[in-house]
Amino acid sequence: MRRNIVAGNWKMNNTLDEGLNLIKDINVNAKKTDVKGVQVIVATPFIHLAKAVEEAISPVRIAAQNCASEESGAYTGEVSAKMIRSTGTEYVIIGHSERRAYYGETDEILTKKVDQAIANKLYPIFCIGEVLDDRENDKHFEVVENQLKNALFHLSEKDFGRVILAYEPVWAIGTGKTASPEQAQEMHAFIRKVVAEKYNDKIADEVSILYGGSMKPANAKELVSQADVDGGLIGGASLNADDFFGIITAF
Ligand code: 13P
Repeated sequence: MRRNIVAGNWKMNNTLDEGLNLIKDINVNAKKTDVKGVQVIVATPFIHLAKAVEEAISPVRIAAQNCASEESGAYTGEVSAKMIRSTGTEYVIIGHSERRAYYGETDEILTKKVDQAIANKLYPIFCIGEVLDDRENDKHFEVVENQLKNALFHLSEKDFGRVILAYEPVWAIGTGKTASPEQAQEMHAFIRKVVAEKYNDKIADEVSILYGGSMKPANAKELVSQADVDGGLIGGASLNADDFFGIITAF
């Protein structure tokens, strides 16, 4: 079912203590706020996951920021989807542009990560989005369509139903430059159309599509009020509980 979702992506921030204190602050906000059915997700570094799951109260759920492309074995430093699920974590971000750009994650690798996540009953939050050069050359729709097709469209209807999409134009991440509500809506509607063409209207209507890229309390309302924008994937502004809830209450 299509849900409104606000997910915080801490990236490589917060020691264990800092992270658990932030979860506590988020809980305090969650208790005193009417979140109007918004699903709140916090994506922590791996080391926080088990304790964050214990600490977080409803409606806050926990996500990992990545998972291994392989099931298990001699892959030093990797963390499998099964291990993530064993902590009680329910969601995993896959395909973030920082993973694609700095760690060479190709569509082929991402396909395997998605399969691992699904096989281990995690919900993938799958990130797509163009770089500035693509947009300036009017290739943004093509790029996003290919990212979807190449890593997700092998999924059955049922498995695709577990996926949350996040449109994060790379030029808007951490830059303070947000996509305009019109640019976000245009791309989100396009994504829904591509999903409908591959699967069907029902599946396209039910997939939640989040916007990510310099979203903050001041611009959240106009973004989430767009018909096809179902929430946000928040970097910087998720590192402070008040800012994060300023976005959650934008619905
Ligand atoms: P910022 O909100 O810091 O721009 O980061 C967005 C993002 O990359 C979330 O995954």
